[in-house]
Amino acid sequence: MAVPKIWRKIPQYYNLIGKSCQKCSEKYFPPRDICPECGAYPLVDFKFSGKGKIETFTIIRSPLSDPEGENLEIYFQKTPYVLAIIKLIEGPKITAEIVDCEMDEVKIEKAVNVVFRKIMEKGKHGVIQYGYKFRLVE
Ligand SMILES: [Zn+2]
Repeated sequence: MAVPKIWRKIPQYYNLIGKSCQKCSEKYFPPRDICPECGAYPLVDFKFSGKGKIETFTIIRSPLSDPEGENLEIYFQKTPYVLAIIKLIEGPKITAEIVDCEMDEVKIEKAVNVVFRKIMEKGKHGVIQYGYKFRLVE
């Protein structure tokens, strides 16, 4: 996928960066300031592998509500799509879209890998936001 150069220079857009506790080794995504397990502070940056398994999923057939109305077009284009809870191999669970597959290919326990995609574009010449999604590992 071709992306503007500027995005490649911003590592957090292309990596799953969370936090790791140096005391109890627990990993967190999204990042936290204080370890909920042991109370340690501060936590250090941790780059996740982006590998995980689908723990559960649902197929979204109607667009998300968009109170400001700015992104309605994009949401309409997207449906149906698969929203899954993914358990990363390092432990944390994250909710993300599964892309690049047929709906019936998605199964609980299937292995997935992170990918980074455009998630939102505000207006015709506006800000493009990138975010993480997952795809099935063959
Ligand atoms: Zn801890």
